[in-house]
Amino acid sequence: MAKLSAVFGGTFDPVHRGHVESLRALLDTGTVDEAIVIPALQPVHRNGVQVSGTHRLAMLRLAYANDDRVKISDIELSKRRPSYTVWTLRALKHAEPTKHFCFVVGSDWSADIDHWYRVWEFPSLTHLIVMNRPGSRNSVLAHKYFSQASNAKDLRRKHSGLRFDFSGPELDLSSTAVRERLAQSDSGPWLSNAIPSEVYDYIKTNNLYQ
Ligand code: ATP
Repeated sequence: MAKLSAVFGGTFDPVHRGHVESLRALLDTGTVDEAIVIPALQPVHRNGVQVSGTHRLAMLRLAYANDDRVKISDIELSKRRPSYTVWTLRALKHAEPTKHFCFVVGSDWSADIDHWYRVWEFPSLTHLIVMNRPGSRNSVLAHKYFSQASNAKDLRRKHSGLRFDFSGPELDLSSTAVRERLAQSDSGPWLSNAIPSEVYDYIKTNNLYQ
């Protein structure tokens, strides 16, 4: 059966355990075989991104250092200007045409799907995995573009175009909440639970999010 590769994009400003544990659950349950994590290129202090792509990439590498199923990609950061997801998906598909890709989003993101650039092209390039995120409800909008998979095995049988809802660890964490705590110089248990210790040390060493 075909190999399944999760494509996990975001700003990761910074990466937190909600990202790490959700992706790990997808891999540990065998829902996917491997994952590519792709931080988006966004200018610092515009669109809410607070630190450079170089720092966000470095923190992701630390967060996933012990998991060789996960590759961190600079495919978007290496471009001069912000890129559309559909371009990234096309490039991945072009490089590995036989692989089945699963674009992974939290349930908050799927609510926005109608506004994505050339969203109608997505089903020919990828499946969609929607991970439950506390406080947000799954949107029905994605059903316009993707057909519901009845189980995870369908993602291997069909090349693309299916939507699969995944109930992961449902950690109530966001980068926004992490940034707020860091700005308040919080160093208590909430932060050490929210981000991997290597990421916390990196943030402190580089004086980020103050
Ligand atoms: P911010 O608070 O800055 O908006 P964020 O925590 O939502 O950031 P992103 O980098 O925007 O993090 O998210 C990347 C992807 O991870 C998105 O698809 C998002 O829905 C998903 N995600 C983020 N946090 C969680 C979580 N706690 N559980 C599951 N998915 C999550």
